[in-house]
Amino acid sequence: MTRKKLMAANWKMYKNPDQTRAFFRDFLPLVAGHTRDEIVVCPPYIDLYVAIEDAKGSNVAIGAQDLYWEKEGAYTGEICPSMLLDIGCTHVIIGHSERRQYFGETDDLVNFKLKGALEAGLTPIVCVGEVLEEREANLTEDVLRRQCLRAFHAISAKKAAKLAVAYEPVWAIGTGKTATPQLASAAHLLIRGEAAKAFGQDFAGNLRILYGGSVKPENVKALMSEEEIDGALVGGASLDPKSFAAIVKY
Ligand code: PEP
Repeated sequence: MTRKKLMAANWKMYKNPDQTRAFFRDFLPLVAGHTRDEIVVCPPYIDLYVAIEDAKGSNVAIGAQDLYWEKEGAYTGEICPSMLLDIGCTHVIIGHSERRQYFGETDDLVNFKLKGALEAGLTPIVCVGEVLEEREANLTEDVLRRQCLRAFHAISAKKAAKLAVAYEPVWAIGTGKTATPQLASAAHLLIRGEAAKAFGQDFAGNLRILYGGSVKPENVKALMSEEEIDGALVGGASLDPKSFAAIVKY
């Protein structure tokens, strides 16, 4: 099964529009003509417009880091799926561990957001992963099963067609600790199994499961060599154009 890898940048709460322009000025020439993998950059909301303008006509797609599932309404501070689509966003990260940790995002909210993104035609990257205490207590499998089960609840395989998942062990995010390729692979297999239960074997065989957690130019090749790993979700190392280009072109 050949799955085209998805190399995604999560800028978190970094960079203003001027810094976004500077990034694309330097980054686009470094990845021009790179068609082996799909490349996505997910900047903060206020940079989306500039990013979309700058990346127009290139091989780089632009995604958001979150959304709200309602179509419109009195939801101060929120951004709905059609707003993202209308300005040219194609992807959206959902359920990042920082949103779960700091903003009370539950498995149910992740499910609502996923449904909203799919309904609108966006490509969602749904994040799952265990915290250190859960890994140490041998709860990783339970946590991943629960997160997948609840995220995928009441979604048909047809609706879920664009879904991508990112396995991000929380203890590896921004810590410099990376899961070994073997450990990540085992988690990916489990997630693929959950996807098979929810959406069927064929769907699961085509599902892209990204790894995230301190991916860097130095460790990306070993991770991407694993058959189970279909790309990377990159935080810190995606802020620098040279470093993210080196990761994309591992
Ligand atoms: C992330 O933000 O999803 C992430 C994996 O961050 P980092 O690469 O900095 O660990």
